[in-house]
Amino acid sequence: MPSQVVVVGSINVDQVIRVNRHPRPGETLIGRSLVLLPGGKGANQAVAAARLGAAVALVGAVGSDGLAGDATALLAGAGVDLSAVQQVPGPTGLALITVADDGENTIVVVPGANAALDAPAVGRSADVIAAAAVLVLQGEIAAAGIAAAVQLAAGRVVLNLAPVIELDPAVILRADPLVVNEHEAALVLSALRPGVEPSNADRELVARLRECGIPSVVLTRGALGAICADDGGIEEVPAPAVPAVDTSGAGDAFVGALSARLAAGATLPEAVRLAVRVGAFAVQSEGTQASYPTLDDQLPEVA
Ligand code: ADP
Repeated sequence: MPSQVVVVGSINVDQVIRVNRHPRPGETLIGRSLVLLPGGKGANQAVAAARLGAAVALVGAVGSDGLAGDATALLAGAGVDLSAVQQVPGPTGLALITVADDGENTIVVVPGANAALDAPAVGRSADVIAAAAVLVLQGEIAAAGIAAAVQLAAGRVVLNLAPVIELDPAVILRADPLVVNEHEAALVLSALRPGVEPSNADRELVARLRECGIPSVVLTRGALGAICADDGGIEEVPAPAVPAVDTSGAGDAFVGALSARLAAGATLPEAVRLAVRVGAFAVQSEGTQASYPTLDDQLPEVA
């Protein structure tokens, strides 16, 4: 059976170091603890969609170091089809995250094997991508890999342009939806409409992106929820009010849930209404993939 949701994206190991404070340039500090957690936006979104019952395949790359197993452990546990994950010589993608007592973090990402996900590498999974009901992409792989995947897609394309990288406007116009936060939305708008002062009103940002010809747009707004717009209109979807413990990876939980629901035939507003609840669930516990709900979990309700 072909996978409903196919994610083409990054696979990382997050190395999280806890420190009292961040070192100054040239300074050496002793860290308090180190944990290795599976991460990468592509992998996170694949886990989120699979935990909600979607049949998910991940197209990606890991390195030949000992970290590939750590990076893919929760993907395998969630039942994601990993047969299109290639192993390439060199390191697995790595995010070195330092969290200080004041909650501030610094992050250095080394793409490693993810950089190998170029057009020829994506082309080797052409059959898997072409059979997807929903293809999910993010900005953590090469622009050429994203463009190649979009060209192969026969179904719906969910483009989470995080981080914002330079893409051919024709690729962005295939996004249905484009999923971005406020900061990313302003960057995409100024790339598509150079010289136009981006608005800081969220509804207007969404409307302007739609005017550029993007079939549908979803703007994520943290604790405020999301705004979605397609041919059916524009809708503000509030998030459930929850105590936030760790918001890292909430955006990926949102995109995974959205994609799973769209693949199951939901309308965009229906899918966004589930995604805000899944995002709110994820912020209530530490970590990224480990904080994502399964079908057995009780999701928070919007009051
Ligand atoms: P990003 O981390 O990509 O900027 P957001 O912060 O907008 O993404 O979060 C994505 C989604 O996660 C939001 O749309 C919302 O549904 C949920 N979320 C994030 N932060 C909170 C919060 N403090 N309370 C409730 N839901 C949240």
